[in-house]
Amino acid sequence: MTDSSSVLGQERTAVAAACRRLGAEGLLIGTAGNVSARVGDRVAITATGAVLAELTDDQVTVVDLDGNVVAGALEPTSELDLHLGVYRRYGTGAVVHTHAPMATALSCVLDELPCIHYQLLALGGSVRVAPYATFGTPELAESVLTALEGRGAALMASHGALTHAPTLDKAVEHALLLEWACGVYRHAAALGTPRVLDEHQQLAVIEAAIARNYGTTHPVPPVQEGNR
Ligand SMILES: [Zn+2]
Repeated sequence: MTDSSSVLGQERTAVAAACRRLGAEGLLIGTAGNVSARVGDRVAITATGAVLAELTDDQVTVVDLDGNVVAGALEPTSELDLHLGVYRRYGTGAVVHTHAPMATALSCVLDELPCIHYQLLALGGSVRVAPYATFGTPELAESVLTALEGRGAALMASHGALTHAPTLDKAVEHALLLEWACGVYRHAAALGTPRVLDEHQQLAVIEAAIARNYGTTHPVPPVQEGNR
């Protein structure tokens, strides 16, 4: 076997750092949840049984897309097949699964988180709740993969949440956005019936976001002669 520390060293460091950040934000509690990042046909993924908020680089294992351990001394998460399934079907770059409090609460009640705020369009709009199945089973993986169709996130009934994105930073950002949106929904639903953005409103947001390159900083344009 190759020297463990040399295989996907940067990615293992990045996955451990992402876990500590998600832990600090209150999204990862104890050993619940798992995070991975892919480079080509290799995946750096959290080990089973590790406390994620304190994760170290050596608690991140490297596997191939068939789940064979390539580097690392610890057994990968029990949701390995779920992560690999997301990579195989959607060709994504990183996967974050949490039992975050608000997302999990909503997963116990809703069949779908409706598009109540325009920022949810960063996840593809409304977020489906994948029907319940036992953790670590092919049934759960299939249920979540179906719910992810055209989306960057899914809730998992009576379980938690999953986000994916081309980069690990984005997948973490999406996990934080989803948790925030679930909190907004919960507060709004306590006050009345939340309004849902219709198709036309959603399309207008997508067009405006593309036109303005939403989510990035922009330098102030130089002052034009005659415009002073
Ligand atoms: Zn879980």
